[in-house]
Amino acid sequence: MISFNIPTHTDKTTEYILDVFKEKHASGDGKYTKLCNKWLIEKLKCAQALLVHSGTAALELAAILADLKPNDEIIMPSYTFCSTANAFVLQGAVPVFVDIRPDTLNIDETKIEEAITPKTKAIAVVHYAGVACEMDTIMNIAKRHNLLVIEDAAQAFDSYYKGKPLGTIGDMGCFSFHETKNVMSGEGGLFVTNNLEYAERAEIIREKGTNRSKFFRGQVDKYTWVDKGSSYLPSDVVAAYLYSVLEISDKIQQKRKKVWNTYYSAFEQLEKENKIRRPIIPDYASNNAHMFYLLFNDLETRTEFISYLKQNDIYAPFHYIPLHSAPAGKKYCRTNGTMSVTNKVSDTLVRLPLYFDITDEDLKTVIYKILEFWSKR
Ligand SMILES: *Cc1c(COP(=O)(O)O)cnc(C)c1O
Repeated sequence: MISFNIPTHTDKTTEYILDVFKEKHASGDGKYTKLCNKWLIEKLKCAQALLVHSGTAALELAAILADLKPNDEIIMPSYTFCSTANAFVLQGAVPVFVDIRPDTLNIDETKIEEAITPKTKAIAVVHYAGVACEMDTIMNIAKRHNLLVIEDAAQAFDSYYKGKPLGTIGDMGCFSFHETKNVMSGEGGLFVTNNLEYAERAEIIREKGTNRSKFFRGQVDKYTWVDKGSSYLPSDVVAAYLYSVLEISDKIQQKRKKVWNTYYSAFEQLEKENKIRRPIIPDYASNNAHMFYLLFNDLETRTEFISYLKQNDIYAPFHYIPLHSAPAGKKYCRTNGTMSVTNKVSDTLVRLPLYFDITDEDLKTVIYKILEFWSKR
């Protein structure tokens, strides 16, 4: 069987996890959390990076920081994971969906301005498949309308817009280290910001609304409840796992790019014959090889394709059911304009197996079976 994803661990993973117990500190903000924070701040060149227990937690932290009032509106794509919207719904805000671009499948920046109302507070962008949104245009719209920009960079580790690390361009950035992402700790996430005011409050919100971090640094002589918050710290056991993976992240990225490029060349001919469309990476964006997808012309062919691969023990899933058509999306959100690209992509996209430990043999089998599917038609 060829899985869609297999989580990665390294030679060091168990050693670091056992070391956590030698340190006698398995809760949050221990030795490995500090090592990860330092590593990530250097990598992302940002003012603050806080390890949290999931990408969802990072988004929730961002939504609390945004200080939303009931019915404030957040503009975002519908073609995303539910956590992008859910984080704001929890704060009583209303996600407002606009359509995506047919090339990158990211929010269509030309449709943002027409969705702005007096209630709009923020734009939440999602860098789908790790490919950057058109950030200059989006930051400019935000500036003119006094809106926050929150980047859902869950898939965007080691990816860039005009050389700038994704997640660090807007006011706040949210990463995920779920086992399906490029670097992982099973569950895990990261909140980043370059705004020092947000940085100070984020630290408090992450620690149940207390100034405990300041207390540990000796900046206050006792700690207390000072703001709203929750518990977003991961255990240092999780951080130890993450640190072992960060240490090999260059190798992971090299391998993923190699697999991605192999798929890309293998399906060139199919694209020329108009059978599928391969991912498009604009000049302003880098490719972190988070995902390799194919876009089909219609739902029927995609359904046959997925079942053909499944019969051959290869798991290639489709992706999001658009949030505007999900039961909770209908209840808590609204759309602005048509969702035609979103609906079409939702019906026609397939993701191919892509992970660090995929063997050359399995990769060849996947490609062979895909070409065979088409040659039999
Ligand atoms: C993975 C993902 C999330 C959620 O991350 P978790 O770590 O699973 O909570 C949010 N948004 C997007 C776009 C994602 O891909």
